[in-house]
Amino acid sequence: MSEQDLRIVLSFDDKTKRYKADAHNVPAEEAVGRVKNPADVTAVIIQKERHRAANVKRCKPCKQAAEDFQKRLREGVTKLAEEIQAGQPPADTNDEADHE
Ligand SMILES: [Zn+2]
Repeated sequence: MSEQDLRIVLSFDDKTKRYKADAHNVPAEEAVGRVKNPADVTAVIIQKERHRAANVKRCKPCKQAAEDFQKRLREGVTKLAEEIQAGQPPADTNDEADHE
């Protein structure tokens, strides 16, 4: 199997309000089966290379991946919140298309 087809499964910890790695070195086709319901508490991200740590809770690349994901998510949510506050519906391109 290709090393490129591995995934990290993250889940949202309601106590800490952070994403944490639940599993790593998960084959892509298996990762789907690990998604919990509701699906928005689970994230599956592409793993660049096989992680050596046996314990996912002590895996540094996983910790980093969870933090990066959390950061990207927070930035996206913040941007959306700002747009709503400014009274501009998100994904509305009419204003930007205002030329001539
Ligand atoms: Zn890992």
